[in-house]
Amino acid sequence: MPQGKPAGVRCIQLDSANRCQLYGKAERPAVCVQLKPSEEMCGSSAEQAYHYLIALEQLTVPSVQSEAFFQAPIKIFRIAQQGRLPG
Ligand code: SF4
Repeated sequence: MPQGKPAGVRCIQLDSANRCQLYGKAERPAVCVQLKPSEEMCGSSAEQAYHYLIALEQLTVPSVQSEAFFQAPIKIFRIAQQGRLPG
């Protein structure tokens, strides 16, 4: 993505099976190459990984306001309670 991937936006490099189409290629962004997966990050399912990524993105948004900072975990908890991913 030429301007970088905005928070909350699905990367255009993901295929229909959620696999990076740039994996192993020189054009894969350096930040992606440097990010090492961990059990904490990946969880045991794609849904758990998705929720973790949402939390990371919301907690690292540069313009995050203090109220949004504290509302993010509550929003994530409610999404998890509903047992489904946001549309
Ligand atoms: S690793 Fe980077 S380039 Fe690949 S899908 Fe994820 S965010 Fe996109």
